[in-house]
Amino acid sequence: MIKATGYAAPTVKAPLRPFSFERRDPREHDVVIDIKFCGICHSDIHMARNEWGTSTLFPMVPGHEIAGVVRSVGSKVTRYKVGQHVGVGCFTDSCRTCEHCRKSLDQYCLEGNTLTYGALERDGKTVTQGGYSNVIVVDENYVLRIPESLPLDRAAPLLCAGITLYSPLMHWKAGPGKKVGIMGLGGLGHMGVKIARALGAEVTVFSQTEKKKEDAHRMGANHFVATKDPSVFNKLAGSFDLIINTISADINMADYFGLLKLDGTLVAVGAPEKPMVIHPFPLIMMRRSYAGSVIGSIKETQEMLEFCVKHKITPEVEVIAPEQVNTAYERVLTSDVRYRFVIDMARL
Ligand code: NAP
Ligand code: ZN
Ligand code: ZN
Repeated sequence: MIKATGYAAPTVKAPLRPFSFERRDPREHDVVIDIKFCGICHSDIHMARNEWGTSTLFPMVPGHEIAGVVRSVGSKVTRYKVGQHVGVGCFTDSCRTCEHCRKSLDQYCLEGNTLTYGALERDGKTVTQGGYSNVIVVDENYVLRIPESLPLDRAAPLLCAGITLYSPLMHWKAGPGKKVGIMGLGGLGHMGVKIARALGAEVTVFSQTEKKKEDAHRMGANHFVATKDPSVFNKLAGSFDLIINTISADINMADYFGLLKLDGTLVAVGAPEKPMVIHPFPLIMMRRSYAGSVIGSIKETQEMLEFCVKHKITPEVEVIAPEQVNTAYERVLTSDVRYRFVIDMARL
């Protein structure tokens, strides 16, 4: 076994603290990765606090925006070599045989994919532990190649925040002539702005207050709307083709459905703790759609990394030491992150 150290939530809602554990010995197709940086996704907080009612395995080492360097490879690994820059996202395995896995839609594996942390591996007993740690062992088919021109601290947030916005923007064809709204300017939202602009869409940010206005424009947003003034929903009614909701809390969806044009789509990616009440009328009246999307496939994540290099897109990050993780969680919860915390694992 390989000795690992990191930060874990010992029990539900408890502050994270230093934790030692073991990774499996590498198998033939495994890559052993020295983790250099790991982003803090709001999902890590939902999971550590069991806000989705799915967190049963503690101690839990969160983290699924992992960027690092290959330490060693198993005897049959062909895709990676020692010293290469690599990444790991939200899942580290899937059934590989179902209809969705065979179509490179492994994020929708019909048997459920193996989450990077807080889950059981496919053997049904080994607990997965995430990237707030110094080393991870992952099958080469679930490892991403990080282009050398991308600094590792900035590559990390692409592995969840980047792909979670890239996938729906591509699926619902954001591009020239399309008016796209991004709800919430946090880790996911700010990636959405940059990617949607690179695709050629006209982008509007919906944020609670004016505080992030200048930042949004600097990132490429064409328009900025502070939603604390409820009259904006009337003014902009019926004007969007596509809206992506990255908000981590429950909100009044009817306001936002009204912003869509005929046949427009609002895609949920934010996953709040509490359910939201939805009246179908605003959907019915303009044949609008309400949809959802989860991260992206391994194939699409690789494509997104190349896209970001091509378009010179990087996340805006605040690099922190591991012992600052609990303070960082508090700041994420008050929307006070600009725009992704990334833990420097060398400082463990
Ligand atoms: P984040 O950095 O905390 O950003 C969330 C943003 O939502 C905040 O910056 C804030 O934007 C807005 N917000 C927060 N509370 C709000 C409230 N009460 N009312 C209105 N707006 C509010 O979080 P994140 O890491 O981007 O993640 C966002 C959500 O996506 C989380 O629920 C996470 O679990 C989920 N997620 C889903 C997927 C997926 O595959 N579907 C993947 C990753 C994450 P403003 O300051 O601009 O108002
Ligand atoms: Zn995430
Ligand atoms: Zn599958």
